[in-house]
Amino acid sequence: MSRGRIQVVVVGAGIVGASIAWHLARRGAWVTIVADGEPGGVATPNSLSWINSNPRFPRDYFDLRTRSMAEWRRLAAELPGLPVKLAGSVYLPDKDLDLEAFVAQHTAWGYRVRLIDGDELKRIEPHLTFAPEMAAYAEDEGAAESEDAARFLVEVAGDGDTSFRNARVEGLASSDGRVIGVRTADGTLLGDEVVVAAGVATPEILAGLGIELPLETPAGLLAHTTPVPPLLNGVILGDGIHMRQKLDGCLVGGASYEGALLLDDAEAGGRELLRRMSEGVDAGDSLELDRITVGYRPTPPKGFPIVGRPPGVDGLYVAVMHSGVTLAPAIGLLAAQELLDGERDALLAPFGPEQYLMGADAA
Ligand SMILES: Cc1cc2nc3c(=O)[nH]c(=O)nc-3n(C[C@H](O)[C@H](O)[C@H](O)COP(=O)(O)OP(=O)(O)OC[C@H]3O[C@@H](n4cnc5c(N)ncnc54)[C@H](O)[C@@H]3O)c2cc1C
Repeated sequence: MSRGRIQVVVVGAGIVGASIAWHLARRGAWVTIVADGEPGGVATPNSLSWINSNPRFPRDYFDLRTRSMAEWRRLAAELPGLPVKLAGSVYLPDKDLDLEAFVAQHTAWGYRVRLIDGDELKRIEPHLTFAPEMAAYAEDEGAAESEDAARFLVEVAGDGDTSFRNARVEGLASSDGRVIGVRTADGTLLGDEVVVAAGVATPEILAGLGIELPLETPAGLLAHTTPVPPLLNGVILGDGIHMRQKLDGCLVGGASYEGALLLDDAEAGGRELLRRMSEGVDAGDSLELDRITVGYRPTPPKGFPIVGRPPGVDGLYVAVMHSGVTLAPAIGLLAAQELLDGERDALLAPFGPEQYLMGADAA
C-alpha cells in the first residue's frame, strides 16, 4: 500500500543513486540528491558499462540481471536521449569459458544467446579480425554511456520536485533508532527515508551508526582511444580483452580476468590494452590511445549486490553493488517500490543487507 508523498534523501549521483532518485521522483516522491561532486559518480565514469548477464552467476542473480536488462529497454523507450545501446555481445573463445555449456545453460534459463559460426560473426561484427570457428552471441546485451546516463537521470528527475546538492555527507542524522537525514557542512538535510548509494564510500557513511558493511574495492584499468569511424556494433568479450565502441566513436577496452596484472604499471597496461584492441579490429593501425582510467569497483562479498534496509534501523536504505551499470534500472524501480509501497520484490530477496551487516546500533 502506498505511503503517500514522502521526502527521500538519496546520497550518491552515480548510475545507482541517479536511477533510484529518478524512479522515486517518477512515483511522486520529493527527492533530494546529495553527492560529493557533480552528478555522474565515482566508479561510474571509470566503468566499461557492459550490460549483461554473463555466465559466471547463479540463477537468482541471473534473474535480477536479466530483469534489469529489460528495464534498460523500458527506460530507453521512456526517456529518448538516454545514452544506452543494446546491440548485443559477442563472446569469443576464451580459456576461462566453455561457450557451449554457457549457451546450453542460459538458453535453458530463457536467455537469448546462441552459438554462431565465423560467417555469422562476420555479418554481426564485420570489422573484427578475430576469426574463430565458433562464438556465442547474446543479442539483448549492450552498454550504456553510464556517466552521461547518470547525469541525464538526475537532470530529468530535476524536472519534478527533485533537487540536487553538491555536498559531502559527513554522517547520518538519527533519532530514537531512526535515521532522519544526513549531515553536511552546511547543516542537516532531513528526509522520511535516506538512501545510501555512495559506491565505495558507503561503508564509511554507515560506520557512524555502528554498521559494518563489508566491501572490497578492487581496481580496474581501462584504455580509451581517440574517436574513430564505426568499427564495432556491440560488446566484444575476448580472451584478455573486453572492448566496445562508445557512442562518441572512442573505443574502450579492459582486460577480462587479468586486470590486476596490468595495473602494476598502469601506463604500460594501457598500451598493452591498446595493442590488444588494435589486434582485434581491421582498422587497428588507426587507433590512438587517448587516456587510461583506473576505477575502484564497489564489490560486496561474493560479488552480489547489497540492496535493502539494514536490520534494526528505520529510515535507512542501502544500495551498493558491482555491476551497478547493468543493475541500475531494476534496482531503481524495485527500491522505489519498496520505499514507497513497503513491498519488497522477490527478486531482491537474496540480496538484503541482513546477510552481511553486523552491529547496527542506531541511536
Ligand atoms: C574498471 C571497471 C569496470 C566495470 N565494468 C562494469 C561493467 O562492464 N558493467 C557493469 O554493470 N558494471 C561495471 N563496473 C561496476 C560499476 O561501474 C559500478 O558498480 C557502478 O558504477 C557503481 O555505481 P554507483 O552509483 O553505486 O557508485 P559511484 O559511481 O561510485 O557513485 C558514488 C556516488 O556517491 C557519492 N558519494 C560518495 N561519498 C559521498 C559522501 N560522503 N557524501 C556525498 N556523496 C558521496 C559520489 O559523489 C558519487 O556521486 C565496473 C567498474 C569498474 C571500476
